[in-house]
Parts: sequence; C-alpha cells; structure tokens
Amino acid sequence: MKRIALIGSTGSIGKQVLNVVRRYPEDFSVVSLSAGNNEGAFLEQVTEFKPLVATLSKTPCCDGCVLPSGTEYFFGENAFTNAIIPDADIVVVSLVGYKGVIAVLDAINKGKDVALANKESLVVGGEIVTALAKEKGVRITPIDSEHSAVWQALNFDFNKKFSKIILTASGGAFRDYTKEMLESATKDDALKHPNWAMGAKITVDCATLVNKAFEVIEAKWLYNTTFDKIGVIIHRESIIHSMVEFDDGSVIAQMSYPSMEIPIQLALGYPERKKANVNSLDFAALKQLTFCEPDIERFPLLKEVVDAGKMGGLYPAVANGANDMAVELFLQGKIKYGDIRASICGALDSFSGGKIDGFSSLERANAFANEYVKNKFGV
Ligand code: NDP
Ligand code: MG
Repeated sequence: MKRIALIGSTGSIGKQVLNVVRRYPEDFSVVSLSAGNNEGAFLEQVTEFKPLVATLSKTPCCDGCVLPSGTEYFFGENAFTNAIIPDADIVVVSLVGYKGVIAVLDAINKGKDVALANKESLVVGGEIVTALAKEKGVRITPIDSEHSAVWQALNFDFNKKFSKIILTASGGAFRDYTKEMLESATKDDALKHPNWAMGAKITVDCATLVNKAFEVIEAKWLYNTTFDKIGVIIHRESIIHSMVEFDDGSVIAQMSYPSMEIPIQLALGYPERKKANVNSLDFAALKQLTFCEPDIERFPLLKEVVDAGKMGGLYPAVANGANDMAVELFLQGKIKYGDIRASICGALDSFSGGKIDGFSSLERANAFANEYVKNKFGV
C-alpha cells in the first residue's frame, strides 16, 4: 500500500490521481490533500477520502460550513507544505506554476519520493532540486507524459545510456494558425487543445509551445543530460508520447491514445503495469502517424525559452516567472496573446543575471519576473 500526499488535488492531474486511487484501493491510499480555491471540490474530496491532513490556499467561506471531522486543516497560500506529512510514502506534486518548486523542495527535504507533474519546479530550480534529491536519496518519478515515455523507453533506469531523447509535441491549439491569425488569437482559441484536456495554464503553454520548451529543460534535469541530446518533433496525433534513440541507432517509442492515467499509475506504482482506463490502440484505424519540425518562425518561444534554459542560473526561473504572470493575465483577458512573448523576452532582457544561490535566489528571480510583467501592463 502506497500512502499518497496529493498537492493540487482539485486540478486536472489531481482528479486523475484520485481516479487511480479509487480504481486500486488495495494499492494506494490518500493521507493528505491540498487544493487552491475550489472549496466545493475540496470538501467533497475530504469527505470521500478522509485524509489525515487537508489544506486549502484560502480560508473556507462556505456559510455555516462544518468541516468534516477526523482531518487536521491548514489554510493559506503555502499551507500545502503541511500536507507533506511523515505518514506519506510519496508526494504527488500536481499544483500549477512556480509554487511547485516549494512543494518539491519541501518533500525532498522531508525525505519523501516525489511523483512529479509540476514541470515548472524543474524549470525554476532543476539544479538544486536534482542535487538535493541525490543527496537525500529521494526518487523523482515523472508524470508528464513525454518524460514518462522516456522513462519507459529507458526501462525505468534513469542511468541508462542513450544517444538522444526525442520529445513529441502535438503543436497545441495554434498549430494551424498563420502568423497573422496568431495576432488576434484569443483566450478561448488558446484553450482549444486538439488532443488533451488539461488545466487552463498548461493548455495556453501548449499553444505558445512554452510547454515544450519547459519539457526540454525538464528532460535535461530528469535524465541528467545536455541540451544537444534533446530534440523536439511535432507529431499531431499524440500517439507516440516520446522516444529514445540508443547508440546502435535503435529508437524506442512509447505509444497509447492520449491518457494521463498511464503515466500517473507508473509514477506511483512502477514497474508494475496495471490496467488503465485506455482503449487498445487500433493501428488500422489510425492509418498513419505524422511528424514535422517545429516552426520557430511562428513559435519563437520554443527556442527562446530553451535558450534561457541553456543560459542557466536564474534565467529559466525568470522565464517561468514571466510566463506564469503573463498567462494569468492572458486568461483574465487583460493582455493579448503576443504579450506573453513580450513578457518573457522583456523580463529575460532586463534581468541582470545571477547564479542559483539557494531557494531564496529562486524566490527573488520569480518575484522580479512577476513584477516586471505587472509593471509592463500596469496591473
Ligand atoms: P489545474 O489548473 O487543473 O490544477 C492546478 C491545481 O493546483 C488545482 O488543484 C489547484 O487548486 C491547485 N493549486 C493552485 N494553487 C495552489 C496552492 N497555493 N495550494 C494548493 N493547491 C493549489 O492544472 P493541471 O492539473 O492541468 O496541471 C498541474 C501541473 O501538472 C502543472 O504544472 C502542469 O504543467 C502539469 N502537467 C499537467 C498535465 C495535464 O494533463 N493536466 C500534463 C503534464 C503536466 P484549485 O483548483 O482548488 O484552485
Ligand atoms: Mg507533457
């Protein structure tokens, strides 16, 4: 029985983690839950799973609401660290944005294995996260589907030798948009992902291809490799979730219809492969799988954010902090699609650099980027 601390329980990934727990109650249980603002869903989850600890990023405001008994509660923006309790065997980090790095570092410091959905944590602090995990003997297992595919192709061996990682990308909501169409693209357009149903922020990241740039940085840290060994290919069908090429020229790909439950189950219970809620692939019906190079002309952020990753130090944290804030403003209808790129590039250009020097340097870089974007748009 694996006891799970679930940080980000009411989101797209969080709910799918709970589906896996419901399906395999003899293998998994939930000892703590953390949510953000969705009080209604949070209370339903607490009632159903009866965790030892539950946290919400705000104080609950339901009228005359009596919180289910038998659970200890904490409230506040960073209250989620209270959910990383000694009773947990593994911490699923599936909250969105910068705060993921706080959860991941706290989990590692407490000696807990991490099942990681929040890629932002490795973008922001991959250097210290992976070093600390090594020092504490903690394992980080990937939930992101591409990184799970790579892990599966490596036979779950993080140290296996390979020559290349090839990350696949659907191309996101704007893959067929011209440059002119992108200029007037709206939030509603950006939220129409062709193949995956996910939270709003990552869906916008997919539309800008920032998500894929983040995944390149994530792969660099998870697989302890260099940027020149990580490629990206557009694969519209999202059937191959990523590939690994070996020295003899063999390429191993992992395939399935799009489903996050496969990576979630593996991150929690590998190497066992349990039945997931996914249909068998029908190759005859698929007929063909297609591939093409990403179009950097239309999606320059793919290159620019990877370049920030290559510059290293605090630059990726600045790119992430600017993106977090810009996407939030875009989703609120306060800025345009093109402003996301202006935010990230502007923040990177005006940042004076610096090495990662502990967690506080990440906080400073994130705050700098958040403020830069807010000032730029006067919000
Ligand atoms: P969602 O927006 O659907 O969910 C985010 C979750 O984070 C919600 O449960 C939200 O709570 C919670 N949250 C936000 N702030 C806090 C806080 N301060 N304390 C506790 N919980 C908080 O996002 P997704 O599930 O789509 O994505 C989550 C992460 O996983 C992202 O980093 C994303 O990049 C990554 N990922 C997602 C994939 C997907 O298929 N969705 C695929 C691969 C990676 P509430 O709803 O209550 O406000
Ligand atoms: Mg992914």
